[in-house]
Amino acid sequence: MTTTRRQSRQIHVGDVPVGGGAAVTVQSMTTTKTADVDGTLAQVYALKGAGADIVRITCNDVDAAQGLAEIVPRAPVPIIADIHFQYRLALAALEAGVAGLRLNPGNIRKPEHIKAVAAAALDAGVPIRVGVNAGSLDKDLLEKYGAPVPQALVDSAVHEIRLLEEVGFHDIKISVKHSNVPSMVAAYRLLAETVDYPLHLGVTEAGPPPGGIIKSVAGIATLLLEGIGDTIRFSLTADPVEEAKAGRQLLEYLGLRERKGLDLIACPSCGRAEVDVIAVAAAAQTALEAEKLPIQVAVMGCVVNGPGEAREADLGIAAGKGRGHLFIKGQVVRVVPEAEMVDALVDEARKLAAEGVEARLAAADASAAALADETALELRGLRGDVNHTAARRAAVAEVAAGDHG
Ligand code: SF4
Repeated sequence: MTTTRRQSRQIHVGDVPVGGGAAVTVQSMTTTKTADVDGTLAQVYALKGAGADIVRITCNDVDAAQGLAEIVPRAPVPIIADIHFQYRLALAALEAGVAGLRLNPGNIRKPEHIKAVAAAALDAGVPIRVGVNAGSLDKDLLEKYGAPVPQALVDSAVHEIRLLEEVGFHDIKISVKHSNVPSMVAAYRLLAETVDYPLHLGVTEAGPPPGGIIKSVAGIATLLLEGIGDTIRFSLTADPVEEAKAGRQLLEYLGLRERKGLDLIACPSCGRAEVDVIAVAAAAQTALEAEKLPIQVAVMGCVVNGPGEAREADLGIAAGKGRGHLFIKGQVVRVVPEAEMVDALVDEARKLAAEGVEARLAAADASAAALADETALELRGLRGDVNHTAARRAAVAEVAAGDHG
């Protein structure tokens, strides 16, 4: 299924295109003090490694702005300066060479200040994100609507955009973040109908994982599947590396970005499991993530159903009678002792990445598939009719044929 993406203008954050049909990008934000140049740069590199395309850094004082001047030229991704209250710090950040600014309309309120920043950004060729946040909505709008309802967030964004447009500034992207998922979704839907600028999606103050991830996915994925959204951020109360990783994974799972790393699928386990699926899946995840291969791997608890159910995976392993049955695209290629399951997966993943599916299927152990079939048959026999279907049918028939008198 392919979704038609909303048509938006394209802007460029440094060399990264946003909107206008460009790939949806992942953003995150550093948590270090910006004046700590080396510490901040180390985090920027870690964020890039985890999947961030663009990184935002706070510019909350002069030391931070000076830090940005050293960070920007050494950063591996475009840097956006986060500006809250002082428009002069936006001008300082532009001087430091940032690739983007984020302004919060609720915090910089004087039109002449906003226009001064827009004029300087226009000269520098730097885009601005109008970052509306339900928690810091303009007081007038809060009074008018009584609460940060979707229309109030959109009004705030539109008011700010008009000020930017008045000085001929159109390199804009917009966010209308809310911590309540249905309100966030409604605000972005409304915004998408109101303007044609690219949109930055996020659920604000989503909190720590797993709840924060669930809220973010609920809001961001809903919109992305409707074709709305050009760049995303998970706002988690966690190491920002988790944000970047989750953002990247979401885009990969939705088919909006190419797989860069591991996609581990695993059965939920059940009474048929022949191994501790949770432990094996966790060990496989740790070992395979370190390989950094773009591969989908399945860990299945039994060879009765495993290879068939996970036939779409590039590679997988299914347990049975003390052995691991390694399969490629559903075809069993090797049988290994249970204790070697994870090592065998890693070894095969490397070979698969280096040699390709055809070559690895050709190198299959000729007796593996037959051994797997034999084990599966044996297990089916051992477990037998776990639902006691035959006995139940007999009981049902007995009741039905009973004495009606
Ligand atoms: S693969 Fe086997 S163990 Fe896993 S859920 Fe399916 S039947 Fe149960």
